[in-house]
Amino acid sequence: MAKTAAPGMSNPEDDMPVVDGPADQDAVQRDTRSAAQRHHDGLIAALRALLASEKLGQHNGLPVSIIVSTTLKELETAAGTAVTGGGTRLPMADVIRLARHAHHYLAVFDNGKALALYHAKRLASPGQRIVLYAKDRGCTRPGCDVRGYWCEVHHVEGWASTHCTDVNTLALACGSDHPLVEPGGFTTRKRKDGTTEWIPPPHSPASGGTPRPANHEPTASTTPKNF
Ligand SMILES: [Zn+2]
Repeated sequence: MAKTAAPGMSNPEDDMPVVDGPADQDAVQRDTRSAAQRHHDGLIAALRALLASEKLGQHNGLPVSIIVSTTLKELETAAGTAVTGGGTRLPMADVIRLARHAHHYLAVFDNGKALALYHAKRLASPGQRIVLYAKDRGCTRPGCDVRGYWCEVHHVEGWASTHCTDVNTLALACGSDHPLVEPGGFTTRKRKDGTTEWIPPPHSPASGGTPRPANHEPTASTTPKNF
């Protein structure tokens, strides 16, 4: 904090926040933040440096990064909100600021079907998980609200016989629900709209329920001022 939260440092009001310092006199003088806000901003700067260091390794087979999904309309108008793989709502202005520092991936959908995934940096493993973060947002079992970062990739159909990993046959399932799909247990299949249907085993009181909509309603979250 003595470094990253010092007056003039890590100030989101600056076009190019000073992060490696020391801040020049101009930056110090235009810094009107409270000490609490400076500590908040300094902590974010430190965490951003950690994220950018690429020393966090991988999580679920992907380089540790923030996965955000939104619509082209919201991106173009720079308004509205996007949703992270953890279910947090992010104002579009924050998404655009984050993107300045990010490796870029772009997934394109048509009515729930994934058409393509583009990425600026070669992935260490297939990019299907990125597409699933945007497509399923979280566990596809009806009634389950586990978010994408905490889910496994489930092969809905055909994989055992074809070994084909078309992303449109994949779905997210949480660690509790994924094992329910087994011989004699739940089965899953894809509907035409790309959602995943969970069918309970015969004679089971459990209900598959209605399919989960393609976009989980994100959890409400506070949006502290950041950059
Ligand atoms: Zn689940």
